[in-house]
Amino acid sequence: MISLEQSRKSFHEVRGLPVQNFWKTVFQTQGHDDILRTPRFQEWLNWTPNRSNCPELELLMENLTDSIPEEWRARGRRIFAGRNLQGQANAEAWQSGEVGVIELNYGFTSASMIYMVLYSKYFEMIHTLGTEVDFSDDDEEIILMVLEEIGKEGFEPILIAEEERRAWTANGMIFPAHRLLREIPSSRSEDSYHEGVRAIEEFAIAHEYAHHLLGHTDDEYPRSRYINGRVDAELTRMGVNFSSYDLNEAQVDELRADSLALLMMTGRLTAQVCASSIYRSMAGAIMGLTVLAHINESWVVSNEAGETHPDFLTRYDVATTVIREMSKSMPIGPEGGHPIGFLAQLSGFVSLILDRWLSSRIEGHSPANVLSLTSWLFERSAEIQEELDKLKTGAASKPVQRGS
Ligand SMILES: [Zn+2]
Repeated sequence: MISLEQSRKSFHEVRGLPVQNFWKTVFQTQGHDDILRTPRFQEWLNWTPNRSNCPELELLMENLTDSIPEEWRARGRRIFAGRNLQGQANAEAWQSGEVGVIELNYGFTSASMIYMVLYSKYFEMIHTLGTEVDFSDDDEEIILMVLEEIGKEGFEPILIAEEERRAWTANGMIFPAHRLLREIPSSRSEDSYHEGVRAIEEFAIAHEYAHHLLGHTDDEYPRSRYINGRVDAELTRMGVNFSSYDLNEAQVDELRADSLALLMMTGRLTAQVCASSIYRSMAGAIMGLTVLAHINESWVVSNEAGETHPDFLTRYDVATTVIREMSKSMPIGPEGGHPIGFLAQLSGFVSLILDRWLSSRIEGHSPANVLSLTSWLFERSAEIQEELDKLKTGAASKPVQRGS
């Protein structure tokens, strides 16, 4: 059986890290004596690892454990989640004997920060398109010029990321060399930016946590049979059918881990789903899957026996179905906002990244530009309005069902 103490000890031994706040190790490695000596940081720097080597992940592990049924928590409380500076840009679950670990590599965090910058710029672009462009202006040339200017702000960073990605893949280090991959637009607060990065990390951790709960690691966890059944039952209710994707066993396990991660993050398993947890899980999952797909070039992969993960398009399809089903019962916000509208915005962002990648691979594929994006946005917003209207009339004619 897994023991927290053994897990913590082994993680630090195997990765050659001192048992202390991960960020203290980072500052020591980088020779940041100024930060290490600052009196107001002392308490934080001297924080002792318990279920993680990072105070933020410690809290995240507690919250995720609260999000699962009581009977599963004993196992969850014994898992150690560690940040590591080295390694591939991803997260992984490892288990052996008494050791149960979730490892989050810094490359993934760095990539999440870059993509959150890209998303913030994309978001600003579509916001500007929607509020500041006067499409009733008679002078088409002016509209065109304005559109091009706005488009540059949103598209350029995505192009730069596509360029830099080659260097990341070559040396295994993800670093935002260009300033456009580091600067967040002034319209977005630092807090909301960091919340976004944390949501992406939370999805990665929840996915690995789910592998431990589902028994995908090599120990015998008797309850995992029941947990697999519970996840499958939830998914069937939501209309997700894994057999329709033509995947191998390992790939189906990945989809189960994605789905359980979403059930945890939204609070579905303890019946505490609320709009803010839906928004957060949506952003974390979709951005997280995009980050991984872009770094590993796993937009489209086969289902042959050697492939362990389904491609982005399949994972995206399952994740959006799950989250869309949970969103349906959410009321429309005071200013007309709804998770389904946010989902459309996120998928627009994903399509842009995918589109830029495609144009660098496929000859003759003309990349999307601000004009095609604008018309897509108009069409999409009309569709969303229709969808929301349907939800509204549906909710009015049907009694609201809860706790199913
Ligand atoms: Zn996985």
